[in-house]
Amino acid sequence: MPIKILPKEVASAIAAGEVVERPASVVKELLENALDAGARRIEILITQGGRELIEVSDDGCGIPSAEIPLAVARYATSKLSVTQDLFAIETLGFRGEALSSIGAVARLELISRSQDEINGTRLVLDGGQVGEPHPIGTPQGTLVRVRDLFFNVPARRKFLKKETTERRRISSLVSRYAIAYPDAVFKLTQEGRVNFQSSGSGNRREVLAAVFGVETARQMIALPTASEAPVKVVGFISPLSVHRGSRRELTFFVNGRFIQDVSLSAAVIQAYHGLLMVGRYPLAVIFLDMPPEEVDVNVHPAKAEIRFRNPDIVFSVLQRVVRATLLGQTPPPAIDFQRSWKAEGWTDQSQAISPDWALLHSTVDIEGVESIRGLQPALPGGGLPLLRAVGQIGAAYLVAEGPDGLYLIDQHAAHERVLFEALMEARTQGEVDSQTLMEPVTVEFTPMQATILEENLEVLKRLGFEVEPFGQRTYRLRALPVLLTGIVPEQALRSVVEDFEEDETPLMSETEARLAARVCKRASVKAGQVLSLTEQQQLLRDLEGCQSPRTCPHGRPTMIHLSVEALERQFGRRG
Ligand code: ADP
Ligand code: MG
Repeated sequence: MPIKILPKEVASAIAAGEVVERPASVVKELLENALDAGARRIEILITQGGRELIEVSDDGCGIPSAEIPLAVARYATSKLSVTQDLFAIETLGFRGEALSSIGAVARLELISRSQDEINGTRLVLDGGQVGEPHPIGTPQGTLVRVRDLFFNVPARRKFLKKETTERRRISSLVSRYAIAYPDAVFKLTQEGRVNFQSSGSGNRREVLAAVFGVETARQMIALPTASEAPVKVVGFISPLSVHRGSRRELTFFVNGRFIQDVSLSAAVIQAYHGLLMVGRYPLAVIFLDMPPEEVDVNVHPAKAEIRFRNPDIVFSVLQRVVRATLLGQTPPPAIDFQRSWKAEGWTDQSQAISPDWALLHSTVDIEGVESIRGLQPALPGGGLPLLRAVGQIGAAYLVAEGPDGLYLIDQHAAHERVLFEALMEARTQGEVDSQTLMEPVTVEFTPMQATILEENLEVLKRLGFEVEPFGQRTYRLRALPVLLTGIVPEQALRSVVEDFEEDETPLMSETEARLAARVCKRASVKAGQVLSLTEQQQLLRDLEGCQSPRTCPHGRPTMIHLSVEALERQFGRRG
């Protein structure tokens, strides 16, 4: 084919593809516009996970009637004018392509009225076709209604994830923005139900509670404000007792912009190094502020990635602030950041402070201890030899003797494994016993949790939970798996859902096994329970009968094995 300049529609569809990847990206662009317009109240309406409708309305400054056609034109923005501005961006938008891009791949309706106008204006942009602006009565502010996303890009539409996945992303996005902008009221309605709402009171911890639940929000540690540094770091991090199975709960805002950045996540994770179990991650919502010229936000059309002028410094400041907070110390000793920022440019100071580091870093490494690390696949030959219970330590660990040495067994993890395999077995036979509650209990969930629960109602049912929707974000629990009868019903359901929340969107086939694992975690004997020798021996027998006795269903080790040789080496009987 000869080289041709692409027709306008094709070119704009290509460009639009970069801005609008999925419903959540539309929501993000519209939220950012509302925030740039100084909105104090933002309402979001979603149906069919955003496929059918995404509507965002705000009470911001509005768009003057004369500028309405420009607002939907490509590269038309009120936010910067000369190239120089591009290097010191203070607004969330600047590329002037969101509305035009959305309108290229959907049916967009823009209604807006600016402060000093009596009438508002309505304009339609339908698959790239701009209509005529018309006057319309409307309150001050802007409303953008987006229908039939990707109606003209079938390939994209096909690639959209399940509705529930899209809903979850939107819910997560809106709630994160609500934490970042606690002075604004955010209200998210999905499929006719209010899914999330913040009060606009300015209190961040209050928003945290709406996002993570009251208990977690209460425990989150506020980072001290290290304001003398050129990188200002504020926000919340989880205490060591609260952790998740994925990095998904690490949220960063840089200069008010929600961004994804692996190095920032890495900095936080590193700050927890040696303090959390392998495979567990902290929660954090962190706001970094720095002079706008220190970040390049113009890296990607969706503006989700940024580039720091001095990434090493940002990384080490963040890591240090988090680490110091964790260790309960005052912010790191005063290093003259100001000087290095201004004069010499950035110098790496990551080595400068690390007194505590080595100390906490050193995990107990007994030579010869075969510690069975998490995520070890269920090996076919992973069976256990016959074990003899010797006793219990700290009401948490069993000591056992095997033909090949000493075993230390985590009783909770071991019991989890035993229950898990029993439950999975019962499920395969289709006979999970469930116990009906005398009085059904109603339980209220956070927006995220409600979405998760909604997604998993069927699976829960197969495992013995009978749950039904009961009003907005509230569910009624009628029956529980028999395994869980010893637990307060509300707690049982909550903990299962909370555990679910920790994981990446699970694969369908895995969901059930995972949920079963969570059920077992709740039902198993807790550390702290004294077991008689007979009970200890029974637990060992049950464990021996398991297919994968060496790890709990979450992949953590159930036992540590000290071989005879290792013992002999330790006691100097062997070279
Ligand atoms: P950008 O945000 O990059 O400028 P957009 O396509 O998102 O580009 O918006 C184009 C212009 O339309 C903005 O610069 C702004 O002037 C106006 N605009 C868009 N949404 C709003 C809104 N919610 N309130 C006020 N003005 C808006
Ligand atoms: Mg914008």
